[in-house]
Amino acid sequence: MSKDQKSLLVQGYEVVIGFETHTQLTTQSKIFSRASTSFGAEPNTNASAVDFALPGALPVMNKGAVQRAIEFGLAVNAHIAEKSIFARKNYFYPDLPKGYQISQFEIPVVQGGVVEFFLGDEKKSVRLVRAHLEEDAGKSLHEDFIGQSGIDLNRAGTPLLEIVTEPDMRSTAEAVAYAKELHKIVTWIGICDGNMQEGSFRCDANVSVRKPGAPLGTRREIKNLNSFKFMQQAMDYEVRWQIEQIEDGHEIQQATVLFDPDTGETRSMRSKEDAADYRYFPDPDLPPLVIGRDWVEKTRSEMSELPRVMAARFMTGYGLSEYDAGQLTQSKATAAFFEAVASASGQAKLASNWVMGELSRRLNAEDKSIEASAVNSDQLASLIKRIADGTISNNGAKQVFDLLWTGKHTLVAGSFTDMDAMTLALIESEGLKQMSDTGELEAIIDGVLAANAKNVEEVKAGNAKAFNALVGQAMKATKGKANPAQVNELLKKKLG
Ligand code: ADP
Ligand code: MG
Repeated sequence: MSKDQKSLLVQGYEVVIGFETHTQLTTQSKIFSRASTSFGAEPNTNASAVDFALPGALPVMNKGAVQRAIEFGLAVNAHIAEKSIFARKNYFYPDLPKGYQISQFEIPVVQGGVVEFFLGDEKKSVRLVRAHLEEDAGKSLHEDFIGQSGIDLNRAGTPLLEIVTEPDMRSTAEAVAYAKELHKIVTWIGICDGNMQEGSFRCDANVSVRKPGAPLGTRREIKNLNSFKFMQQAMDYEVRWQIEQIEDGHEIQQATVLFDPDTGETRSMRSKEDAADYRYFPDPDLPPLVIGRDWVEKTRSEMSELPRVMAARFMTGYGLSEYDAGQLTQSKATAAFFEAVASASGQAKLASNWVMGELSRRLNAEDKSIEASAVNSDQLASLIKRIADGTISNNGAKQVFDLLWTGKHTLVAGSFTDMDAMTLALIESEGLKQMSDTGELEAIIDGVLAANAKNVEEVKAGNAKAFNALVGQAMKATKGKANPAQVNELLKKKLG
């Protein structure tokens, strides 16, 4: 066992996690009917005869749902089945009036695939088993009725793509990082809106523990985790609970559990059914789903650049590190903002530093998305150009950035010919312009050298600290407006 793996052990146990994620697809209408999928409508107004399971109503496949499944498969390098089968998963529940859910069982539409991501600076890859199309169930409403339950079938028949991983994850942190990466992929390609609160992206975490080298332990499945924070808490609790049980001499029973955010605990919902309990069989109402290779290839050619491809391009095209490129492709909007700043300023590295540094710090502090940034890409680019040409220091630029962000300055945007002119005016009016006049700077440095004869002696005797002290004195004498690199250079010339 490598050192890394050892350090991952929790109280001597290895954690094993596999995920099943239900992503709600962004189609306008349902997977087998023409009813709308919009969220929040009056109960039972977005449901058709098919969704109500009226006798004789037949399902018709929504091509848009298949299209999205193909896009997902291509995004994770999976195989798109030439022919997949819809199956009935039989179970009784009031919000499932047909008595079965239409899903895919033996032959799913998306087979295999891999999701790659970073955990800190460590590269991880999680293998997918499959992704299959299925319909969502309705909802039981318990709160509005006393002694009765209501049924809302608006959600019934909403298209889902259920994405299943191999049990490849070895820590709860890795599992959360996987979920975040998957969320990024499905929202990036636009097959899912990613709204976790509304249930568009729900994760089931299968968790087990074992002694290193032992066969897989018995898993318990935590259902419907709809926030990354709860996901982490739920799995951490579950791991501790399972270890405690085993240490106390109990065996883990396979079970389905729910996480209660109020207590921070998981509790058993039901003992886990096996596939055999569902009596799966091919749905006679739906023909096999046949996907021609021309459809797959057309989709491939029309898909926008994927995050990992874009990250690779950022590395080769802009010379960014793998980590930076990964961070900048966290969302399409972030990537677009970075590219706009990089191309308008011609300074990719600075653009990357600023987008991931000052800009994201401000966005986080105010809980804003980059689309709502108070400083736009043109403004940031014009500021970066002035850092690059030495007009302003990085620290000075942070002050200007702050003024642009808060709008606490008196300049009127309309009175300038362009953003560069306005940024320059702002730099000047704030007195943040670095000294560019070499003659003036030289005179100041001569003064500093004359006043610090002792330091000069020490520098000549090879004392590097004394040199830094002179740089500091010179910066002070210019009230911080000199370019430190230029001061360094001039001092070296004069002392050298
Ligand atoms: P089912 O469909 O009955 O829930 P699967 O065998 O398809 O069961 O597995 C469901 C999920 O559980 C998969 O993501 C898989 O990786 C994961 N899994 C299977 N065995 C384990 C285990 N021992 N520990 C953790 N996760 C597991
Ligand atoms: Mg399951």
